[in-house]
Amino acid sequence: MRNLPASKSDIRRWRKEERDDILEYVDFVGQGEYYLWVKDGVESSRCPFVRKDRGKPTYHCTIHDTRPEACRGYPLTAGQMVKLGCEIIGEIETVSLSLSRAKR
Ligand code: SF4
Repeated sequence: MRNLPASKSDIRRWRKEERDDILEYVDFVGQGEYYLWVKDGVESSRCPFVRKDRGKPTYHCTIHDTRPEACRGYPLTAGQMVKLGCEIIGEIETVSLSLSRAKR
């Protein structure tokens, strides 16, 4: 995952909500810019808040109600969603699988 930004309002909201579990994955890079999912200087390979649904080929966002502004613009491109390791990918895989089965 590369350079997913957090907005200043994201940072303010998470501080107000005392979401240290999210803030620990925010990297302040200077000049009012923040990047997400970096912890102790190490960038996560995928969003730390995406979880697989048990027994299903789908995923969900565990911080949906307070997700970053950058995540509120979905749908992004499929390539971006794959790169983010995001919740919607599971749904795409399910739809693709259903479509390919329907064509048989
Ligand atoms: S919407 Fe996706 S990338 Fe954004 S916080 Fe939730 S799981 Fe992570």
